[in-house]
Amino acid sequence: MPTIRSVITGGLVLLPDEPTASHVDIVVEGDSIAALVPPGTIVDARRIDAANRLIIPGLINAHTHGHGGLGKGVGDRWSLELLLNAGPWINGNRTDEDRYLSTLLSAVEMLRKGCTACYDLSAMLPVPTVASLHNIAQAYADVGIRAVIAPMIADRSFYQAIPGLLDAFPADLRALAQTMRTASPDAILAPIDDAASEWAHPRDTIRLGIAPTIPLHCSDEFITACRDLAAKFDMPLQTHLAESPVQRTAAQRRYGTTLTAHLHRLGMLGPGFSGAHAIWIDDAEIELLARHGGTLAHNPGSNLRLGNGIADMRRAIAAGVTVGVGTDGSSSADNQNMFEAMRLSAFVSRVFDRAPDEWIGAAEALHMATEGSAAVLGMSGLIGRIAPGYKADLTCLDLEHVNLVPLNNARQQLVNAEDGMAVRDVMVGGRFVLRDGALPGLDWPRIVGRAREAAERLTAANMAMREATERLAPVVEHFCLGLGRCAHDLPRRLPLDATA
Ligand SMILES: [Zn+2]
Repeated sequence: MPTIRSVITGGLVLLPDEPTASHVDIVVEGDSIAALVPPGTIVDARRIDAANRLIIPGLINAHTHGHGGLGKGVGDRWSLELLLNAGPWINGNRTDEDRYLSTLLSAVEMLRKGCTACYDLSAMLPVPTVASLHNIAQAYADVGIRAVIAPMIADRSFYQAIPGLLDAFPADLRALAQTMRTASPDAILAPIDDAASEWAHPRDTIRLGIAPTIPLHCSDEFITACRDLAAKFDMPLQTHLAESPVQRTAAQRRYGTTLTAHLHRLGMLGPGFSGAHAIWIDDAEIELLARHGGTLAHNPGSNLRLGNGIADMRRAIAAGVTVGVGTDGSSSADNQNMFEAMRLSAFVSRVFDRAPDEWIGAAEALHMATEGSAAVLGMSGLIGRIAPGYKADLTCLDLEHVNLVPLNNARQQLVNAEDGMAVRDVMVGGRFVLRDGALPGLDWPRIVGRAREAAERLTAANMAMREATERLAPVVEHFCLGLGRCAHDLPRRLPLDATA
């Protein structure tokens, strides 16, 4: 079949490294950008009119959870640990169809808000299966955005993960907490190995990753088994790294050192490794990440929402660590709006004691949310930039939308003013997956009906589990508040070697 050649003409295009948007035509061949040419110079190609459009690289979400799509708005004033305590009822009793729907909702929201690729840490309780991984991949294929699908796995329960927590419960509640167990490592890892062995989606479209969810929730043997599986299939690996003060203190108690130092000891750090959140890491940890080529996913909205604190990403960037931007999942942070995540990335960098020229500005925030996130997904050089050789992943905004009228400075307006409302068209791999505000491949009214039915059924099915975890919540809250406060008393820089 001959490669289809198109020219996107008449648009204002945000090119890398140029201060303002430029009038250029984009020549697309197959799924990639073939050339950027002066307007009107190509006449022998299918013409796509982009008059009144600002064309930017599709935004890339470096950290989310597709399983959150059915869970938006389920909690309010809860810390990360209260969220983890609630996890069994938020994500329990789901069928493969529910997992598909949840991922689809997340993917649609990302797409509508200008995002063309994501890193999805997907919970599949009690164990991932080959079928559930295929279903989740199908959701991304149906919506038409790229994804890394990393099963979010652990071989310890939340209650086993936090040193001292089980002992803090009275006997009846301890017995209840002890009933919540994970499956065996083999039962969790074998289906991922099977799925990776026969994965049919192209690696640059929908690829598998692996996500030992939080290091404290995984035995060392489990973490190294994940490492080996990632190496066997060249899969990216992501974990929640020092997301809360509780995790920093708990790591010190369990490992005698920091989370990053412990992961380093297990041979985890390397170019395929990314850490999400990284609020509670010290300079020595940043140096380790920089030295080994690990990347970070910055989730400022989630960090604020769960009260975990503010990650100082200038410190990491200055040390040479590549940083992408994420929204986190809808059951923790609740929307999937990369414009908001970008804006918050810029704004929260300003609360530290630094001069304005060290703050994260609009251009840098946009770079993080495109090329930075592309590196986290292991797709550097493929996506995140409007340049020849890159995939034709383009987000087109309406230049007549009030957010962009008048257009004083495209980059600054995208980061500081835009909220996703001006997004009209999105192309992924040379194909429109959002066209003039409509989703051409999806029967949306049917999806709405199925999502409502699923939410109602799951609420009823998980009611007993919800009541059980709500009985545990006061102890979790009290114990973790105390443990988290201890993080402030730890030295700013912990020794890398546990024996030091
Ligand atoms: Zn997360």
